[in-house]
Amino acid sequence: MELKTDYLISTPAIDSTEPQSILIVDDNPRNLGVLSNYLKGSGYRILVARSGESALRKAKYVSPDIILLDVIMNGIDGFETCRQLKMDERTQDIPIIFMTALSSPEDKVRGFQVGAVDYITKPLQYQEVVARVNTHLHLRTLHENLKNQNEQLQKTTDDLMQANEHLSKQALQTQISSQVARQITSILDLDDLLQNVVKLIQQQFGYYFVGVWLLDTPKQQIILTAQAVTGKRQLDLNYAIPVDRSDSAVAWVCETGTHYLVNDVENDSKYFAVDLLVDTKTELVLPLQISENAMGALDILSLEEDAFDDTDLVVLQTLADQISIAIRNAQLYKAEQRRRQLAESLEHTGRVLSSNLNLHLLSERILQELAGVVPYERGAVLLRRGDEVYSIAKYGYPAGEEKRQIHVHISDGDVFLRMVETERPVLIDDVLADPGWQQMAWLPVNHSWLGVPLITKNKVIGMISLTRLDIAAFSEEDATLVLAFSSQAAIALENADLYDQINQLNAELEQKVVQRTQELNKANQLLERLDRTKTDFINVTSHELRTPLSIIQGYSQILQNIPAIVDDPSNEELIVGISEGAERLQQIVNTMLDVVRIETQALEIHVKQITITDIIELVRMKFMTALQERQLTLTTSGLEKLPAVFADPDLLFKVFNNLIVNAIKYTPDRGKISVIGQQITSSDSDEEEKIKITIRDTGIGLNPEHHILIFKKFYQTGKVAFHSTGETKFKGGGPGLGLAIVKGIVLAHRGQVWVESAGYNEETYPGSRFQVVLPVNN
Ligand code: ADP
Repeated sequence: MELKTDYLISTPAIDSTEPQSILIVDDNPRNLGVLSNYLKGSGYRILVARSGESALRKAKYVSPDIILLDVIMNGIDGFETCRQLKMDERTQDIPIIFMTALSSPEDKVRGFQVGAVDYITKPLQYQEVVARVNTHLHLRTLHENLKNQNEQLQKTTDDLMQANEHLSKQALQTQISSQVARQITSILDLDDLLQNVVKLIQQQFGYYFVGVWLLDTPKQQIILTAQAVTGKRQLDLNYAIPVDRSDSAVAWVCETGTHYLVNDVENDSKYFAVDLLVDTKTELVLPLQISENAMGALDILSLEEDAFDDTDLVVLQTLADQISIAIRNAQLYKAEQRRRQLAESLEHTGRVLSSNLNLHLLSERILQELAGVVPYERGAVLLRRGDEVYSIAKYGYPAGEEKRQIHVHISDGDVFLRMVETERPVLIDDVLADPGWQQMAWLPVNHSWLGVPLITKNKVIGMISLTRLDIAAFSEEDATLVLAFSSQAAIALENADLYDQINQLNAELEQKVVQRTQELNKANQLLERLDRTKTDFINVTSHELRTPLSIIQGYSQILQNIPAIVDDPSNEELIVGISEGAERLQQIVNTMLDVVRIETQALEIHVKQITITDIIELVRMKFMTALQERQLTLTTSGLEKLPAVFADPDLLFKVFNNLIVNAIKYTPDRGKISVIGQQITSSDSDEEEKIKITIRDTGIGLNPEHHILIFKKFYQTGKVAFHSTGETKFKGGGPGLGLAIVKGIVLAHRGQVWVESAGYNEETYPGSRFQVVLPVNN
């Protein structure tokens, strides 16, 4: 025990350079003096109080390290003093040691009960006093150190917890940031992207509401484009706030480009209360912008007070910046996609345009293509006719109404007239509010209307009309897009219109052709009848002429046999004249009969094997005198080499007789006539063996327009009245039957006949070539 006390005494005032202070409370001055002297000598700073009241006062402002308190004192006693010291915050930690002469255990217990740490009994053993004082001072120091350490520890723990919280928040924020970044790079559809991002932020941070507001294109409204809310209540998407609204933090942020924090929603002038989100306590609005170009705001509502600290602000603004970039990318992508779609659609319609001229189909196609570029519910292409517009194509109309044509009477203040005046698209946000709108009773109301003019040759000829159910659903951009189509449509319409006109003309022409054909058929029938009448006439005339002709011929022969008449030389000429005239007439009558036979297909062919040389020779003999008179040369070539043919010799004689007589007639004096024979050989062994005989002259020639007609009966190229008479005279007249007979006979022999001539000319005499082709076997 001693040892321990020594040890304690030798270590006074632990961890302190200042001497430790002791307040001694005793109402006995002698006791006070002795004790304080002793303790001073042990190195303590001594304070004294001679009553409980004084001790209470001093202890409060001096804060001694320990109090030695006498129990029995005048005024308040030691127990009461101790009790009061322990009640006061400033003094309660000071250890108190009672000094008491009493040795009853109750008093000791009482001392401990009121808060004393120890007691010493009077008369005092000074060494014991020092030992106890030292022990308690040491304990106190230890206790204080422990307390300090504890406090330090608590602070460190608090700091650590705070740091931890901060770190985990940062980790969460980083995670969300990277999630947002991933969304941004993977989603290109703007609506999808925003919806995902707001959901992510709302759920991960646990906010009440997260919304993205975007400025519309004319920058007049801010529209709620995506939202995520705790619970079921949601704002209407497309909810719009005018940009100049003064009680909206969103509008303010969009205008200034800086964030806005509403900590007291009740009393903030920029807090715009929304009924559906009544529980909001704080709101943070962050700008969405790229290089100071405002595009909207990120709006975050929280159910907690003071929900946003500086770190939140930084992180959320970073997120907002990421969202801004994403929005721009998505917008660029959307614009790019739209451009591509537009180009493709225009290309489609262009292709349809070049391959299709049906006005109706084209317009329908334009409406279909448009639907892919500008969303609409009902569309029509209308054209103006007089004072009305009418539809030529419709798209998206209610079932059963597709076929119904729209007719709108154009009246003053009409939307169409507005378009005619400006030559620009007309946008109506709500047709019900427009005085110039005429609603069809049979159509449900679509509020938005976009009309784009169809202009050709600087004139509005019609319009493309599109409608949507919602109010203000079309934008200026939509109008520009439709305009691109309308210019195509206008060209198409112009082309189609021309095409329609051509079609109409064609139809009219066809109608006329049908009419003319009918007329021609009638004329033909008439001509055929006339022709038959002609044939009948020839038939009748030739038969009628035959009897008197035989009589003339008989009598002329009788006359020639009467010597009294013949002996008179002046009669000879008369008789020869009568005889020759009768013979010529006979020839003509025969010719006429031949024609009749040919026409009535009564020509009898008696086939024999004959040579062309023989026939030509007979003809030549016949015209020997005439040729000499006219000094014409008739040469032949190639005839001898021709094979013998099966044909009617009398008829063939008539063929070459007529051709050669014509050659004589239409060739001037001293001209040349040649008859050339050719065998037609064909490489095709099945081909029939044929010969060709050409009668060539150096005469007046024939214009091409007559080449076919001269083979018709009675057809002559010149005027009948100018003909000189005589069978072989130059340009001597004939009845116009010769070539008709030639053709009839040649065809009856299954041959062909035609003429070749450079044309008619009586100065240069281009001549003619009559070609006759005959089969060798008949
Ligand atoms: P025509 O009795 O008038 O000779 P054709 O039928 O023999 O009747 O001939 C019809 C017409 O063909 C003639 O009037 C003449 O104009 C024309 N023609 C016929 N042969 C020749 C020819 N070799 N050269 C020129 N014109 C000819």
